[in-house]
Amino acid sequence: MSEEKAKEWSARQKFARFLEEHKKRKTPERFVILEKIFSSQAHVGVDTLYKQLLADGYRVSRATVYNTLDLLVEAGLVRRVTLGDGMTRYERVSGSMNHHHLICTRCGKVKEVKAVSTVAELLPKKPRSFEPAYYTLYIYGMCSSCARREQMMRTGIAEKSK
Ligand SMILES: [Zn+2]
Ligand SMILES: [Zn+2]
Repeated sequence: MSEEKAKEWSARQKFARFLEEHKKRKTPERFVILEKIFSSQAHVGVDTLYKQLLADGYRVSRATVYNTLDLLVEAGLVRRVTLGDGMTRYERVSGSMNHHHLICTRCGKVKEVKAVSTVAELLPKKPRSFEPAYYTLYIYGMCSSCARREQMMRTGIAEKSK
């Protein structure tokens, strides 16, 4: 079993326990949503998830997707992120590892990079009445494919004006 698969498997078990403890039904749709978030490094929005589920033949409502995401957040398996455009997206929580987000301002592609310091290093003095859990930086720029496209456009224009 790959490391990613193992992570997904332990998340499934944790979610199953959480649902039992909270007397919620363990429906297949709920586990598919977990799977979708864990199987990629994606930061997915509710609408994207909802459309993916419909495309896969699941008969879910938007409310089910919202409700399941709330449960996953409550269970500590998934967290909400906002990546500059104000839209709420969801991503898996992978242990205590912090990561940053490299966001392309042209196409919106998001790449994750490992963070070098911990929250404790970042905040030598623990704030009062707040329990820090993780931190993330949003670094904006241009991805390599957008940069290449930009370059091509520039040289194309230069050639035309000759
Ligand atoms: Zn891009
Ligand atoms: Zn992320």
